[in-house]
Amino acid sequence: MSGIRGKNTKPEIQIRKMLHAAGFRFRLHRKDLPGKPDIVLPRYKVAIFVHGCFWHGHDNCHLFRLPKSRTEFWEAKISGNIARDKLKQEQLLSEGWRVLLVRECALKGKMALDTAVLSNDIKQFVCSPKQLFREISGKPRTPNI
Ligand SMILES: [Zn+2]
Repeated sequence: MSGIRGKNTKPEIQIRKMLHAAGFRFRLHRKDLPGKPDIVLPRYKVAIFVHGCFWHGHDNCHLFRLPKSRTEFWEAKISGNIARDKLKQEQLLSEGWRVLLVRECALKGKMALDTAVLSNDIKQFVCSPKQLFREISGKPRTPNI
């Protein structure tokens, strides 16, 4: 099964390295916050989630494909995850946190962003107090001609 689950996944570590290089201080897996964000920047009131495209059902993504067997089970499971993610993000926003969602495909695979671009996008969000939510995913697909 593709996708990421659990703590300290490779994409998560990549993001931490970028934040560290940019001089940001952060904390990991704050259990007292809704959805247990993977990375938290308390000074900027930013909660970061690094989401695997399979488990979090990233729509229209090359890293997300429903398994051919037990399809209904997976469909229900993943749509449950999507609904839960959305709820947790809303809870964080209502508690005054800003939410950054980084999808696995921004870091991995053929649509991955350049490290410099991604790192810049993250910095830009962290340092923009008026931006409350941002989602970063892989490059948009070029339409087949
Ligand atoms: Zn994706």
